[in-house]
Amino acid sequence: MNLYYKSTRNNDEIVSASEAILRGLAGNGGLYVPVEIPKLNCSLDRLAQMSYQEVSYEVMKLFLTDFTEEELKYCINGAYDEKFDTPNIVELVKKEDAYYLELFHGLTIAFKDMALSILPYLLTTSAKKNHVDNEIVILTATSGDTGKAALAGFADVPGTRIIVFYPKHGVSPIQEKQMITQQGLNTYVIGIEGNFDDAQSGVKKMFSDFTLEEEMREKGFQFSSANSINIGRLVPQVVYYVYSYVTLLRKGEILDGEKINVVVPTGNFGNILAAFYAKQMGVPIAKLICASNENKVLYDFFETGSYDKNREFILTSSPSMDILVSSNLERLIYQTAGRDANINNGFMKSLNEVGRYEITEDMRVQMKDFYGNYASEEETFAAIKEMYRKNGYVIDPHTAVASSVYRKYVEETGDNTKTVIVSTASPYKFTRSVMNAINSSYDIKTDFELIDELCHLSGVRMPQAIEDIRTAPVLHNTVCEPDDMCKEVKKILGII
Ligand SMILES: *Cc1c(COP(=O)(O)O)cnc(C)c1O
Repeated sequence: MNLYYKSTRNNDEIVSASEAILRGLAGNGGLYVPVEIPKLNCSLDRLAQMSYQEVSYEVMKLFLTDFTEEELKYCINGAYDEKFDTPNIVELVKKEDAYYLELFHGLTIAFKDMALSILPYLLTTSAKKNHVDNEIVILTATSGDTGKAALAGFADVPGTRIIVFYPKHGVSPIQEKQMITQQGLNTYVIGIEGNFDDAQSGVKKMFSDFTLEEEMREKGFQFSSANSINIGRLVPQVVYYVYSYVTLLRKGEILDGEKINVVVPTGNFGNILAAFYAKQMGVPIAKLICASNENKVLYDFFETGSYDKNREFILTSSPSMDILVSSNLERLIYQTAGRDANINNGFMKSLNEVGRYEITEDMRVQMKDFYGNYASEEETFAAIKEMYRKNGYVIDPHTAVASSVYRKYVEETGDNTKTVIVSTASPYKFTRSVMNAINSSYDIKTDFELIDELCHLSGVRMPQAIEDIRTAPVLHNTVCEPDDMCKEVKKILGII
């Protein structure tokens, strides 16, 4: 049976999985959503005996129904191989009363690798299936981690080019160094004098610019997206929720059918939406705990039912969560509004015009399994310090936000359901914040001195990703104003 995808903004737009992946974004700024969430058709018990790659196939085949078995296995096996520094692809480690799901064992040491290692395969396979001859231009806005993971995934992939926009003053020094040293003749990296929301809205604008689309087509180009608005990012992310549940089952940590909670450090709402999809597929998940930093727009939303982006944008030590417009929330809004694009359009129009919207009581009821809270900068640093002091385990600031929110949740509710906390980045990616949290006297050292110190203190081997940038030359130094993003893209593509 084929599963189709519909746009959140147009009830008449229906496409196959490969078309949705290829296009990235639907017309009029809509997002593609599967018409229903498929149910797992393999028992949890059987899944518990499978490798990460095998579980991937069992999950992804249900979403990407127009891929053949051979195509999908080619994509999965190409993505999840020795690039990851553990044969399990992800690790689940127990610390105190929770399990930390480490999703940072890929090439760029953040969880974005989980989806962006496979997206180039899914995209080039989709292009072939749909007889697309145009060169595909991946246009991406990043709050820090997506950019590098997408660059690493698409570098020198034939038939593609990748252009990444990042907030020049809004990413960590390591994140920036990782991006601007990227090799590959088809890679372009541009800093903008603005924040992530500026980058994201600039990119979305280009996606819905018909004149630009026409000009591109004449030159043999078409856009696609590596952001989590692409369904090809979301589907691979469902896999690790299934995999972590069955891993707990295999290890005898839970009984078959026992519910678990998950805590997800959230920015664009992609990762936690994947957890929600896993729950609907039949994974016994009780609460979806949405952890925010001081940009706590989602906490306020789950508290009040009102989404309001009219507030100060705060730069925090967890930059990949510094977001006021969480794109993927639209998919949840659409679903809970009865999968009606017209109703969703009303909310999005309001968001666009006055920066806020309010959902109905009925929609709130459907979101009852979500719980939102947030951690201040102080609480985030305290969580890093505590975890190190008690367990000798070093966590990054994003994971620390989740860890801190989990504490608050347990205090508030007394719920002692077994819990998976999603660990989204290696502490090496945010060395300065992490080391300062542990001991403020580190402040005087250089970034690479701190990295050596972290290696010493954590006992965790330095990731190859860090070794790689130590001496790498800077290859990208373009900076532009948000209003000039389109001009830069045209320059790169030779459209003047
Ligand atoms: C992207 C990112 C997040 C936020 O994930 P979303 O899917 O955007 O909610 C959290 N932590 C890290 C380290 C990230 O790179």
